[in-house]
Amino acid sequence: MSGRGGDPAAGMLELRGANLHCGRCGHDLGPAASGWKKRALMRERPMEGAGGAPYRSGSHVLLRTFVCPGCGRQLAAETAMKDAPPLDDRLHTGRAGGDP
Ligand SMILES: [Zn+2]
Repeated sequence: MSGRGGDPAAGMLELRGANLHCGRCGHDLGPAASGWKKRALMRERPMEGAGGAPYRSGSHVLLRTFVCPGCGRQLAAETAMKDAPPLDDRLHTGRAGGDP
């Protein structure tokens, strides 16, 4: 396994209340608990040749980047098998499942 590698980095995403916002332009990416990647722009390209690195994993492995629709900043990147769903990143705010 290549690991998750998709945890939002500090500063990339900002949690305001229950919603995540872009750390740069403040674009609302929706409730943190429901998977912000659905609201980001997802771009896919084959890992092969990505970033000039000599990956030899073949074209069935994709590099996915998630970009802010507001300012175009890259918020996260992950590798995925072709046709696999995006990793469902969810921030744990400590309140999940605790509310009636
Ligand atoms: Zn933004």
